[in-house]
Amino acid sequence: MSNVTFTMIKPDAVKNGNIGNILQMINNAGFRIVAMKYTKLSLEQAGKFYEVHSARPFYGELTEFMSSGPIVAAILEKENAVADFRTLIGATNPAEAAEGTIRKKYATSIGENAVHGSDSDENALIEGSFFFSGLERF
Ligand code: UDP
Repeated sequence: MSNVTFTMIKPDAVKNGNIGNILQMINNAGFRIVAMKYTKLSLEQAGKFYEVHSARPFYGELTEFMSSGPIVAAILEKENAVADFRTLIGATNPAEAAEGTIRKKYATSIGENAVHGSDSDENALIEGSFFFSGLERF
C-alpha cells in the first residue's frame, strides 16, 4: 500500500484566503508535505489533468474553474494517505460533507469545492508526477 496522496488547494479556496487554514488542517491531521508549489494551470493543462472526466457533463466548467486562478499543489505522506485524506476533505458536494471536513468548512459548491484529493494510489502517483519531478520531493 502506498503512503502518499496528491492534493490541490483549488482556485476558490486560494481566492478566499484559505491556503493557511487548509494547510493547518492537513498538518493537524498528521500529513507530511513531501512537495509543494503555488502555480496556475492553463485551460489546456487543466484539461489534461482532468482527462479522465472528459466525457462528464461538467468537464468544461471544471477545467475553466481550475484554470481561473492560482492553486497550491502538494504531495502528502501518511500511513493510508489516500483514504485518510479523502476522509479529511469530505464529500464532493459540500452540502453532503461531514462536519469538521475541509470541504464542509471551505467549499462553496459541488464544483468549487476547495480541495482535490487523489482517489487511488495509482492516481496519486500519476497526479503527483504531473506537477513534480523527483528533484522537487523531499
Ligand atoms: N465536479 C463538478 N460537478 C459535479 C461533480 C464534480 O464540477 O457534478 C467537479 C468537482 O470540482 C470535483 C471534480 O469535478 O471535485 C472531480 O469530480 P469527482 O467526482 O472525481 O469528485 P472528487 O473526487 O473531487 O470528490
